[in-house]
Amino acid sequence: MTFNQSNKKDLGLYIHIPFCVKKCDYCDFLSAPASQNEIEAYFEALFREIHSYRNRMDEYMVRSIFFGGGTPSSVDADYIYKTMEQIKQVFTIDENNLEASIEVNPGTLNRDKLTRYLDSGMNRISFGLQSVNNEELKLLGRIHTFEQFLENYKLAREVGFCNINIDLMSALPGQTLDSWEYTLNTVMELRPEHISAYSLIIEENTIFYDRYRPDSMYYDELPDEEMDRLIYHKTKERLQEGGYHRYEISNYARTGYECRHNSSYWVGKDYLGIGLGSSSFINGIRWSNLREIDQYISLFSKQIDQRNASWEKSFHGDAAMDWINDPMALRQDIQRLTEKERMEEFMYLGLRMSSGVSKVDFQKRFALAMDEVYGKVLEDLKEKKLINICGDYIRLTEYGTDISNRVFAEFLFDTE
Ligand code: SF4
Repeated sequence: MTFNQSNKKDLGLYIHIPFCVKKCDYCDFLSAPASQNEIEAYFEALFREIHSYRNRMDEYMVRSIFFGGGTPSSVDADYIYKTMEQIKQVFTIDENNLEASIEVNPGTLNRDKLTRYLDSGMNRISFGLQSVNNEELKLLGRIHTFEQFLENYKLAREVGFCNINIDLMSALPGQTLDSWEYTLNTVMELRPEHISAYSLIIEENTIFYDRYRPDSMYYDELPDEEMDRLIYHKTKERLQEGGYHRYEISNYARTGYECRHNSSYWVGKDYLGIGLGSSSFINGIRWSNLREIDQYISLFSKQIDQRNASWEKSFHGDAAMDWINDPMALRQDIQRLTEKERMEEFMYLGLRMSSGVSKVDFQKRFALAMDEVYGKVLEDLKEKKLINICGDYIRLTEYGTDISNRVFAEFLFDTE
C-alpha cells in the first residue's frame, strides 16, 4: 500500500460518463447516445453517488481523477465542472500533485469547453483519435475527421493543456503497415506527451462482430497474427525513435508523462469507480456498479424519498449536501480476492509494465518470497527466454511481450 506525505493511502478516482454522440462500429463499452433529460438525471444521480462516500473514504487521498466513457466531452462542460466541485466537497484531494484527466473526442469540443475543463481542475486531456486516415475513421464508424481532430488538438494547446494523450488503434481491417506508420509519424509530429496504441479487438455485440465473422466475405480484411506483431514492433521502433518510451505493453510517454491513473491499475493500487458500470478495487475487494442506467438513476432517489430528504435543496443550494445514501446499493459482482488471486494479479498486471515486478515488493506485500511461490514458473519462463531476471526485477523479453497472454497464464494457480 502506498502512503503519501499526509499518511493517507493513495486513491485513484474513475468517473464514468456513459454518453456518446453515436455508437462506433467496434465499440462494446458501456456507452450510448442519450437525451438531454437523461443526461441531466444521470448527473444528479452521479452527484448523489459521490456524496454517498462522505466520511467513508477519510483514510484516502485522491492522487488521480479520470473522467472516462463514453465521451465525457459530449455533455455540457458545466456537468464536468460541477462533478469536480462535488468530488472536492467529499474527498481529500492532493491539490498540489493531482493528475486529473478527461477523455475527449474530436467533433464534440470547442474553446469554451476546453477552458471550462481547465477551470474545473483538469490538467490532462486524452483524445480518442484512432487514425489520421479519414477512410479508416469512417470504417470504424467514428464521428470525426482527422482535420477536426487537428483543430481541436491545436485549441487544447492554445487554451493551455500541457499534458495530452492521443489514443490510436492498429490492426484495422485492410490496414497496411505503411498506413499505420503514416498515422504514427503524423501524430508524433504534433509532439503529444503520451500515446496509447492498442490493437483492434473484435468484441461480441458490435457491428464489427457480425461484419467480420470467420464465415463472412470481409473476414480476410483482418490482419493476421504475423501482421499484428509486425505492427507492434513497428510501433515500438518508431515511437522510441521519436522520444517516447514504452512503459506498458500498449502505452508510450515522454519521460515524466506516464499516466498515473492507469498505472495505478497495473501496480495494484486502490481505485474507486463512480458512475454506471464502473469498477472499483479497495482493500482487496473488487466490485462493479450496476449497468442499467434507469436503475442507477432511480436507486438513490428512492432512498432519498424514504428519508424525506430534499434533493432540490441540496442539489441547487450552496450548502454541502446533507443526505447520505449507501453506495453498497449500487454494487454488483463483489469479490474479495484471495491471497492467491492477489499474487496472480500482482504478477500478470505488474508484468504489463516495462519496469516489471519486484521480488522485494512481492515479499513485502505477501510475506512470502516470490521464488517460494513462483520459483519453478520463473525458471521455466527464463529458460524459454520469455522473461529476464535482473537482480530484484522480473521483466518480459521482446518475445515474452509478443505472447504476453500466454506468459501471464503461467502465473494462474488453477492452470498449474
Ligand atoms: S466514442 Fe468511444 S465509447 Fe463512444 S462509441 Fe466510440 S469507441 Fe465507444
